[in-house]
Amino acid sequence: MSEEQICPQEDCVPKEDLPSAMEMAKNLMRDGTKIIKNAVEGNKTLVEQFVRDNRWSICNECPRLQNDRCLECGCFMKVKVAFQTSVCPLGKW
Ligand code: SF4
Repeated sequence: MSEEQICPQEDCVPKEDLPSAMEMAKNLMRDGTKIIKNAVEGNKTLVEQFVRDNRWSICNECPRLQNDRCLECGCFMKVKVAFQTSVCPLGKW
């Protein structure tokens, strides 16, 4: 049985292509903290739709996007592009 057949999800990304679990946990904590801090300070949490669309189109052209996940940070980009405090780890947006 191949690795693809073992994975129950059609859209999974091989673990070896993603950052380590520790790195992804740190990224999640950092990004979550920024989102909460921004909201507590009364700032807008989400970006406008055109900003999301622009970010998403950049990600879609990026070789580091695989099955909607960024291989740099491990994030699910359809979600990440929506937040005001999100940044591309490679500075593309
Ligand atoms: S966040 Fe940046 S590095 Fe990641 S997929 Fe999007 S453009 Fe590429």
